[in-house]
Amino acid sequence: MLEALRTAETGLTEDEARRRLQEAGPNTLPEPEVESYVAIFLRQFKSPLIYILFAAALCVYWLGDTADSLVILAVLLFNAVVGAIQEGRAQNTLRALRSFSETTATVLRLAGKGGSAEEKIISDAGVVPGDIIILREGEKVPADARVIVARNLATDEAALTGESEPVVKGTAPLLKPDLPVAEQKAMVFKGTHIVAGFGHAVVVATGSRTEIGAIAREISGVKDEIPLQRDIRKLSRVIIGVVVAMSVILFFIGRAIGHSAQEMFATVVTLSVSVIPEGLPVVMTIVLATGVWRMSKRNALVKRLQAVEALGQARVIATDKTGTITKNEMVVQRVYAGGETYDVSGVGYEPEGAVHKDGVRIAASEHADLLEAARIAALAASARIIYSEEERRWSVAGDPTEAALQVFARKAQLSRDELEAEHPLLAEIPFDSSRKYKAMLHKDKRGGRLSVVGAPEVVLTLSSSVVRAGKKMALTKAMREEIEGTIQHFSRQGLRVVALARANAAATNTLAENDIHGLTFVALIGMKDGLREGVHDALAQARDAGLRVVMITGDHAVTARAIAQEAGIFKVGEKTLTGDEIDSLSDEELARAVERVSVFARVTPAHKLRIVSAYKARGEIIAMTGDGVNDAPSLVAADLGVGMGKIGTEVAKEASDIVLLDDNFYSIVAAIEEGRNIYKTIKKVILYLFSTSVGEVLTIAGALFVSLPLPLLPAQIIWLNLVTDGFLTIALGMEPKDQNLLSEEFGKAERSLVDRLTFTRMVVMGVPMALGTLFLFSLYLDDMAKALTVSLTALAVFQWVNAWNCRSEKESVFTTNPISNIYLVAALFVVIALQLVAVYNPFAQTLLHTTALTWFDWLLIVPVAFTVLFAEEARKWITRRVDSIAIPGVLARS
Ligand code: ADP
Ligand code: MG
Repeated sequence: MLEALRTAETGLTEDEARRRLQEAGPNTLPEPEVESYVAIFLRQFKSPLIYILFAAALCVYWLGDTADSLVILAVLLFNAVVGAIQEGRAQNTLRALRSFSETTATVLRLAGKGGSAEEKIISDAGVVPGDIIILREGEKVPADARVIVARNLATDEAALTGESEPVVKGTAPLLKPDLPVAEQKAMVFKGTHIVAGFGHAVVVATGSRTEIGAIAREISGVKDEIPLQRDIRKLSRVIIGVVVAMSVILFFIGRAIGHSAQEMFATVVTLSVSVIPEGLPVVMTIVLATGVWRMSKRNALVKRLQAVEALGQARVIATDKTGTITKNEMVVQRVYAGGETYDVSGVGYEPEGAVHKDGVRIAASEHADLLEAARIAALAASARIIYSEEERRWSVAGDPTEAALQVFARKAQLSRDELEAEHPLLAEIPFDSSRKYKAMLHKDKRGGRLSVVGAPEVVLTLSSSVVRAGKKMALTKAMREEIEGTIQHFSRQGLRVVALARANAAATNTLAENDIHGLTFVALIGMKDGLREGVHDALAQARDAGLRVVMITGDHAVTARAIAQEAGIFKVGEKTLTGDEIDSLSDEELARAVERVSVFARVTPAHKLRIVSAYKARGEIIAMTGDGVNDAPSLVAADLGVGMGKIGTEVAKEASDIVLLDDNFYSIVAAIEEGRNIYKTIKKVILYLFSTSVGEVLTIAGALFVSLPLPLLPAQIIWLNLVTDGFLTIALGMEPKDQNLLSEEFGKAERSLVDRLTFTRMVVMGVPMALGTLFLFSLYLDDMAKALTVSLTALAVFQWVNAWNCRSEKESVFTTNPISNIYLVAALFVVIALQLVAVYNPFAQTLLHTTALTWFDWLLIVPVAFTVLFAEEARKWITRRVDSIAIPGVLARS
């Protein structure tokens, strides 16, 4: 082993380590999202809309208008720069977050040729193949390595396998090649933790060649497109279709009614420029970035910018039970042993409390079966309970289920340390979510003593006898039924139930699954995992918001349902689906079945992936929470993967779109509220930008049909779309949050970025703009420079007014508070000032082909521009009337 890696027990020299670092590269996981500013900048140009603008710039240049083509190019540059800055900033925030997880490693290095070996603390990234690493309790393993020295060494491989049970490591050589990670007992893996003991290991793989590196690589490759990206792409396609179709049609119509080809060519290019909302990408990035910032204030860290909006559209939230709905803090409340039921008092992990029977406090030592249960609990559960002086509270190291068993044993006056001194541990089978039990073999006076703890149905199947008043007797059918009745009884109270069993065995050093049978059933333990504070309200809010919440857990179906009922997730008439039932269904059947399911119980991580696919097959947009490494595939598959910031593993967080800093369900709801707000804001922005486009297109097409000259030039259109609209849309993006974002009505309405209502409004706004502009333009025909200035200014004033139209779908402008969005007021002053520059500043005049206007011109333009306000006010009034008639009708029907 050591020879193959050209190293020795005393480690590498510094020079050799440096050389190998060159060769193997740094020991870091691939970071798929790191992109240079240049790359981001160049990517901004990768959009069909940008291609059209490029083409337009070329055509304009070819038509002889150099200034206009330069304006277009400048705008493209400006867009790309702003976009790149925004995206780059978001990416840096993400990277900063990731650097929090950087750690150090302890290695043995030789001081020089023939020098002595020294322990050195170096950055994780500097570990190379052949390095000897020192492993100590509590440390993170920096690379995949072969153990060469082990003293009671055990690791927590949850980051890799999802199982939090310690895995005992030794130096015995691996027997077979290609063993699964969980069985490679002489290897330690990057990203896992040392939970006990001490050891040395020789590094065999670093960076992306490690086991966890392989998983991280798989994940970075499979990210699906999320809804907003899809919608924007669809929208772009629509825009391009419209541009092409309109250009072709107008070109031929224009030719047919006698316009020259060159004239028509100029018109078509101008039209294309007007249809494209130049301001959209920038505004969108700003709206998303503000949203991300607001969400982080509410404990939801957004990792992918556009994920924000997937939140706005999520319909189903599939959430973990343990830790998200419940506190993940187990307390034993009831014990069934020797045919009797006992109550256990106390709170949390504090070992203060006592055992009661029928309301009377009893001493465990006088009840043989109860005492035996406590003994198994103390021996089989490996978690430790620790009192923290600083925090002045009891906490646990290890699995909460096992911690609860330890606390129970202490309440029954048993000391784990004394027991372990008397019965040293020989071998164990750790707990595993698919096997669902754990077994420990301890030394006994007469040989070995086997203790088993696990899911009750599993333990019961492995048992053939039962203990009563200290005596072993056969497990009769009647007794089995009594035990099963008790499991149901405990589960219905929302208690997590584990069964305890024991057996005598030979004192060997190995324990295999087929050694576990013929057990003597001893007890059932019912433990409570309380709901997290505020979960009930958060769930009620989620429901009001039209979201379906389903719970996913490995726990017993009845327990899961009881907790779901307590939390308000499960309602009478809904169904529970277990892992076994899922296995028996085909994908289509599952997709049909999930409609009425609110609890998935006894599931493994593999089932989660099928559940996600089932919802997606139904066309639902699903958010899914997860923490373990083996949750990563379902986090990636879900439309919105939600990682747990506290209990989650790095890989799960990496696979998620957002991370909940406090693991709290309420933060998902908060994020959804923000997400909906952003979606709504983007809709407003799109409505506003496109109504401008519609106005411009109708103006140009209208001019063509009544044989007027072109009333707008490309540079002017860009001025309107980018400068005038730009400031006003950003201000619109700052609108105060709607009160009813978390109402079901909102959830249903917001299905697509451009729906029928939005389309209607674009027309209602666009028509007065075109008519008004053409009317004013036609008044000034004998002075073309003046006429062009008037049409530009008219459209600009239309935008000033129209921004106020877009604030609400139904509310009249006259009944909304005019200064509740102070940004809009400020933006109005800015664009008025800019328009004055455009009209009166000589340099701007050359760029935009404008000339000074008189007071009289303004007095003509402003009233005409107000027609758009009245048109939209009329539409709002009609909508309100129709609603007030329709709503009682709907109520009568339902
Ligand atoms: P979850 O944690 O989502 O509830 P698990 O798959 O971890 O689901 O647990 C399934 C069942 O296995 C539990 O209901 C309990 O009966 C049993 N169990 C859980 N953890 C342990 C453990 N550490 N030791 C023994 N039994 C356990
Ligand atoms: Mg568990």
